[in-house]
Amino acid sequence: MEGEKMLKAAVLGATGMVGQIFIRLLDGHPWFETTVVAASERSSGRTYSKAANWKMTTPIPESIADLEVLDVTPSAVRDVDIVFSALPAEVAGKVEEEFAEAGYVVLSNASAHRMEPYVPLLNPEVNGDHAELIEEQRKRRKWNGAIVTNPNCSTAVLTLALKPIYNEFGIDKVIVSTMQALSGAGYPGVASLDIVDNVIPFIKNEEEKMQSETLKILGSPLKPADFKVSASCHRVATLDGHIEAVFVETKRDSTPEKIAETMEGFVGEPQKLKLPSAPAKPIVVRKEEDRPQVRLDRMEGGGMSVVVGRVRKDPALGGVKFIVLGHNTVRGAAGCSILNAEYLKVKKYL
Ligand code: NAP
Repeated sequence: MEGEKMLKAAVLGATGMVGQIFIRLLDGHPWFETTVVAASERSSGRTYSKAANWKMTTPIPESIADLEVLDVTPSAVRDVDIVFSALPAEVAGKVEEEFAEAGYVVLSNASAHRMEPYVPLLNPEVNGDHAELIEEQRKRRKWNGAIVTNPNCSTAVLTLALKPIYNEFGIDKVIVSTMQALSGAGYPGVASLDIVDNVIPFIKNEEEKMQSETLKILGSPLKPADFKVSASCHRVATLDGHIEAVFVETKRDSTPEKIAETMEGFVGEPQKLKLPSAPAKPIVVRKEEDRPQVRLDRMEGGGMSVVVGRVRKDPALGGVKFIVLGHNTVRGAAGCSILNAEYLKVKKYL
């Protein structure tokens, strides 16, 4: 937005895995600049470079390295226009409400408020229109700020791939089996002795989140979609990128070719609005028999696209099955949150 002033952003939980991706993605952003970083008592009072165990492959941006880490309270975090939250759910519940009450729009990655009826759970290509819930949230909660959430990482990837199928053919059933990267567990995450040479067939609350969030996102603002989702979630020894095997029973007749074509041609409002973080193609469909692969394809569209492959007939459910891959800390977390903020700015909610 040429000529408009930059909006100052605070990142809560800035020292963690998702917080670090926020810092990296906001560096050089055309509309938002990080001016405040905040984290736990362990970090507050220290400079960011001392407090953060920096895991990115690019250096800490110069403008951030010497910032003092503040407490995650509205009295400590001042003079910002927008708040990004990468806090653990148990902390986010109360803290995000305090910020909304103090008048801030909070873009949250945590699960604490996702399923509340007047809190938008936004994956902007899929359900940007749910942003309208902000108005009712403000009335009911009597605050000028707002809490807007983005989906759990594996749900962000799944719902983007399902959206064009849902629009064109309807959906009766979805079965999904995930293979999820280690960065999804935050830092230090899963102990190396547990995960090297191993697959762990359990991620706490993940299946429940995929099953409920998918329906909220694909439904209308106050009515979840009416189909069945069954998820099985597994932690594997990759660093970034969640890959999912998806089986879909469609309502209306479909073929793998038609579904691949529908996904390939899909664009959402962020693309039409040319938002800075919107990938040109939200869904990239690969034709090779052995793609997508986590290491080769997770950075497609800067990590904001999902990559679909092996779209084929499913003889059991009678619909289609395919593989989808997405970057869990970019599309599945900070990148989605920033795209939400861009969307809200253009729609005048900020
Ligand atoms: P993480 O690496 O464990 O980072 C947690 C951050 O929160 C750190 O900055 C930490 O600060 C801060 N924090 C912890 N306890 C706090 C407290 N009591 N008060 C204030 N700050 C506190 O976790 P993460 O993976 O980045 O995840 C952050 C959030 O995003 C979680 O809600 C997670 O479920 C969600 N999420 C993660 C992913 C993913 O792929 N990783 C994807 C989607 C959503 P210190 O460094 O000072 O301890």
